[in-house]
Amino acid sequence: MKNICIIGGGASGAMAAISAAECGADVTIIEKNEKLMKKLYITGKGRCNITNSAYYEDFLQNILRGRKFFMSSFTAYDNYAVIDFFKNNGLAVKEERGGRIFPASDKSSDVIKVLENKLRNLNVKTILNYDVKKIEKTKDKFVVNEDLQFDNVIICAGGSTYKSTGSDGSIYTIAERLGHEVTEILPGLTGLAAKGLRLNDLQGVSLLNVSLTASLGKKQIYSELGEMLFTHFGISGPLVLSMSSLLDKDKMQDYTVYIDLKPALDEEKLYNRIMRDFEKEPKRAMKNVLRRLLPAALIDSVLEKSQISGDIVCNQVTAEQRRSLVKTLKFFIIDIEGFYKLDLAIITRGGVNLKEINPKTMESKIVPGLYFAGEVLDIDALTGGYNLQVAFSTGYCAGKHCASS
Ligand SMILES: Cc1cc2nc3c(=O)[nH]c(=O)nc-3n(C[C@H](O)[C@H](O)[C@H](O)COP(=O)(O)OP(=O)(O)OC[C@H]3O[C@@H](n4cnc5c(N)ncnc54)[C@H](O)[C@@H]3O)c2cc1C
Repeated sequence: MKNICIIGGGASGAMAAISAAECGADVTIIEKNEKLMKKLYITGKGRCNITNSAYYEDFLQNILRGRKFFMSSFTAYDNYAVIDFFKNNGLAVKEERGGRIFPASDKSSDVIKVLENKLRNLNVKTILNYDVKKIEKTKDKFVVNEDLQFDNVIICAGGSTYKSTGSDGSIYTIAERLGHEVTEILPGLTGLAAKGLRLNDLQGVSLLNVSLTASLGKKQIYSELGEMLFTHFGISGPLVLSMSSLLDKDKMQDYTVYIDLKPALDEEKLYNRIMRDFEKEPKRAMKNVLRRLLPAALIDSVLEKSQISGDIVCNQVTAEQRRSLVKTLKFFIIDIEGFYKLDLAIITRGGVNLKEINPKTMESKIVPGLYFAGEVLDIDALTGGYNLQVAFSTGYCAGKHCASS
């Protein structure tokens, strides 16, 4: 019987272990933490967005880097296979906005329980509190930390964000020593630092039903409707996370990024709406009347960008000032400076170079018998359950092919 070592007991490691054990291998998970799946526990704000119900083509559109590579493992073990896996193992699931699949209980711990029960039933061994620092290939074995020997190794050690969950990027050096290239590591799905905003007033303000746009010269990079928020450093929230994954770190100063604070109204309708509001309360200061239209904390920023004093009473506001106000509301420019630091990102952009991995089997083309799965690979996706699906599909394929090769 083949003995396989899985390095990393996260989502991809658990799935790799399950599929390898189902193919009859003797499987051991080595995990540096005191327990498995610490990152999985915090996913989806503790609710775990397991996958997404999107159909094949639509699903793949949400994979940003590594899409072509991912097609093989996704075809072999797709989102419906993952949903079936959890259902067949006793987890009720539900679908939410945008096809997001969650456990019906809203508890990531229930997802973890299913995986742990399955690992136990398949007699997968786990070694906890064990930090892998070295992997060597001898003639026909893999030696881990000069200590343990295995026929095969599957590296499922994650990326380099939320390091307190164990995925601290230490694996990249190990992969490089084995002869693999690791592409540039960057934050993905991350907040953006911004300058020139009154962040003392704005931090904590969330905006619902706004649109966020980024363009580079004449090319629109991103434009979506949704939610975002101002933070201590700049901007974050769902729209910003998705947009960040499309930005090039070396072109931050060149992007034009703006919020349309009133996307449901075109400029003319917005102008008329403001006119009506001002006519209703002609003697009140404009800044007070704008509360009908905007969150209070945003008013000073909007007025500052429009270069209008908020103390002017409504019937004194000129047509030019109203037009300037409308422009600011439709094009609230954000001067972005860069990504938040890596550790705060939801996902790692970059990882083990996909050119060096067989997409069907996840086996290394450089070190036969060595496999990779999950976030350690140079694949990343948008929010919505897509990243966990990457972990599950690649994990499943790595385990299956490793055990049956
Ligand atoms: C806050 C947050 C929320 C998220 N929410 C979602 C969501 O709802 N849906 C979604 O699809 N994705 C979500 N993600 C992304 C998702 O968590 C990852 O894509 C997924 O966990 C990657 O799985 P993995 O097994 O590859 O890596 P990990 O889950 O990071 O597991 C890697 C494991 O390897 C271990 N390890 C690392 N190095 C070593 C070593 N040298 N020796 C031994 N062990 C080691 C680590 O301790 C860790 O347990 C979220 C991420 C974050 C940070």
